[in-house]
Amino acid sequence: MQMKPDIKSMTLPELEAYFLELGEKKFRAKQVYSWLHQKQAESYEEMTNLSAALRSRLAETTQLRTLKPLEVLTSQVDGTQKFLFALPDGPVIESVLMKYQFGNSVCISSQAGCRMGCRFCASTIGGRIRDLTASEMLDQIYRITRISGERVSHVVVMGTGEPLDNYDQLVRFIRILSGEDGLNLSQRNITVSTCGLAEKIEELAKEKLQITLALSLHASNQKKREALMPIARKYDIHQVLESCRIYQESTGRRLTFEYSLVAGVNDTDEDARELAALIRPLHGHVNLIPVNPIRERDYVRPDRRAVLAFQNKLEKSGINVTIRREMGSDISGACGQLRRSWNETHGETGSPEAAASRADVLPEE
Ligand code: SAH
Repeated sequence: MQMKPDIKSMTLPELEAYFLELGEKKFRAKQVYSWLHQKQAESYEEMTNLSAALRSRLAETTQLRTLKPLEVLTSQVDGTQKFLFALPDGPVIESVLMKYQFGNSVCISSQAGCRMGCRFCASTIGGRIRDLTASEMLDQIYRITRISGERVSHVVVMGTGEPLDNYDQLVRFIRILSGEDGLNLSQRNITVSTCGLAEKIEELAKEKLQITLALSLHASNQKKREALMPIARKYDIHQVLESCRIYQESTGRRLTFEYSLVAGVNDTDEDARELAALIRPLHGHVNLIPVNPIRERDYVRPDRRAVLAFQNKLEKSGINVTIRREMGSDISGACGQLRRSWNETHGETGSPEAAASRADVLPEE
């Protein structure tokens, strides 16, 4: 059986072509597109300027993928909100709304689970269940806007999943999100974080998007990076940095390097010195993330003094550094842990296929 088209993943020209195929007027497509992406409608019933006949026809011929909120937690400390959503077929994902002085930022998931296996990350423990569609990435932002009543000005693809492992849907998502007939979010306010799939970074460079690329570096040499990130066995640290250089060169966008500081693992003076030398030619920006300890591993975050000392050392070597401010520390701890505890209490800890998903992408140990 052929799947009905996923209407919220269509671009406006695609939707117009689809309407013409249905024998409907082209301008109706624009109305529907505006309902979906500007007014963020949950269902066809809301689209009151369409005839009842057209609404029921669309309900029959298309799928309208709307996420179901399961839980919303609000931080008493800084107003950060964490959202648990159910996908139409059941898997649960997590998104976060953070309020900053510069505006509201939403952190979205790009996959249900992840197959990259980074050692310190909670989201990868059950493997990858499935990729999200562009519509499901968009709907995290749309539902959050509706539920919170807040305008979203920034989007970071830093939730569960490896966005470049879901490349086509990611690029579609960015184009729809930044399109002038949709939310019209500036591409400069969209950040995509990757563990470093070098070929995909080079492919992304050719899309001529103005988004910010953040590379999860986490180590200053190949050996240490391999110990934290299995994907480093597939793409060597120098190969990944070269792909980032290409990205920067063809987009003109400054790179961000994420570096999760783990006590006794990658936080010494020597690490800082080596890191500075490694990335200096790229003129990027380093974002230090004191590691969020997860139950399954015994990684420990360095104390505040050690974090500041690491920052200082990098700055003295001429590197631009920020320390990631921890948001919503009172609501279910680190990234991905809300989803993980939900899955545990509901007995959904992954499937054999999800657990085996890593074998498709990671080289053998
Ligand atoms: N797959 C993408 C997005 C992952 S999450 C990537 O690898 O970049 C965004 C960032 O949080 C990544 O840099 C990731 O390595 C980091 N991260 C994940 N778990 C963490 C933890 N427990 N403590 C600190 N940083 C973590």
